[in-house]
Amino acid sequence: MSLDHVLNLTCVVCGREYPAGDIYVCTEHGNEGILDVRYDYERIEMSRSSLAADGDVTMWRYRAVMPVAADAPVPPLTVGGTPTYDAPRLAEQAGVGRLWVKDEGRQPTASLKDRASAMAVVKAQEFGAAVVTTASTGNAAAALSGLCASVGQPNVIFVPESAPEAKVAQLLAYGSTVVLVQGNYSDAFDLCMAAAESHGWYNRNTGFNPYMTEGKKTAMLELFEQLDWESPDAVFVSVGDGSIIGGLHKGAKDALALGLIESIPRIYGIQAAGSDFMVQAFESGEDVLDKAPIAAETIADSISADLPRDRIKAMAAVTETGGAYIRIPDEVILEAIPTLARGSGVFAEPAGATAYAGVVAAVARGLVGPSDRVAVLSTGSGLKDVTAAMQAVTSVGTTPIHVPPDLPALDAALGEKGIR
Ligand SMILES: *Cc1c(COP(=O)(O)O)cnc(C)c1O
Ligand SMILES: [Zn+2]
Repeated sequence: MSLDHVLNLTCVVCGREYPAGDIYVCTEHGNEGILDVRYDYERIEMSRSSLAADGDVTMWRYRAVMPVAADAPVPPLTVGGTPTYDAPRLAEQAGVGRLWVKDEGRQPTASLKDRASAMAVVKAQEFGAAVVTTASTGNAAAALSGLCASVGQPNVIFVPESAPEAKVAQLLAYGSTVVLVQGNYSDAFDLCMAAAESHGWYNRNTGFNPYMTEGKKTAMLELFEQLDWESPDAVFVSVGDGSIIGGLHKGAKDALALGLIESIPRIYGIQAAGSDFMVQAFESGEDVLDKAPIAAETIADSISADLPRDRIKAMAAVTETGGAYIRIPDEVILEAIPTLARGSGVFAEPAGATAYAGVVAAVARGLVGPSDRVAVLSTGSGLKDVTAAMQAVTSVGTTPIHVPPDLPALDAALGEKGIR
């Protein structure tokens, strides 16, 4: 198997270069020394026309610019190829020129995390791993679990005991060894890291495994291609560990280097007000490497992170593109669920709807406006967290009509609501 197009893995802290292989972080910088996969773009043949001629609709259509060999086997589940919807009513409501919603809830395990976990399975099999592991707030876990199930790869998954039931149900259905940690995501992460080290398991952890970004970046490549390579002015995504946003930035840089797009969009990272490590650092100019962890608390469980693991790449994604970090209170996140659903037909979990709430906040601050073409990443399905969805519809005053099975009674009830 040939990985000639991969130049090296470069430490994001010190710039030290490592040969591509079975390695996680910089030996000098430990868990902070996340590695970035660097490519020799001269050796990569991927153009608008080569892609147009490629019948593969999955994320692997971009494999020429991914750290996998051309002939590497990939899991059979269809990861990628999620729809990007034009949402004119939402654009008008939010006050932007154009608004697209990319629905990552359409992935096989219903979140964008499938893009990274598919990559994890490919790398685990390349390195001959007996067991794969990850810690997660829930979606990365479900994604790894499902992708492993598709190829029969044993795996051990660590999630906080508080993870939404639907996410835990997925893990159990897929047959993973499920460890519910009595603590938060940070506790689950630390325990998983220790277990991986002591048992020699292949470690998929976000902000540790350098290959995960390379899977997530396909969301950006795909978005560009779906917009006929006319990059939007701004891209909005919610941020927990910062790995997705770093991946989107990487996808944009790859696309620019390969001549697929002409300019990189501004990238906006949206966090819950109760889990705003990146917003704090963005506003204060603090170095994310030195900044102490916060005590995160939000209804948007997928973006609850005391210490964003991929914070260096996450900060660069915003500062290098002229975007911003924005915080959104939980009540506003919840309200965004029905707004997004009614305005576009996309039903998102709280972390997915957070990105749309970010557009509204950015318009209010004058960061984007009527001339901007904006893309919103809806990162996970609303079915992932039905409790939050019910809370959201209740909070905006939507209630069902309770009636006996009787037409006159129905008509009376409809009349009260002004429906005839
Ligand atoms: C993981 C996740 C995020 C945040 O991604 P990070 O890489 O942790 O910043 C956002 N939304 C959903 C639905 C997720 O599962
Ligand atoms: Zn280093």
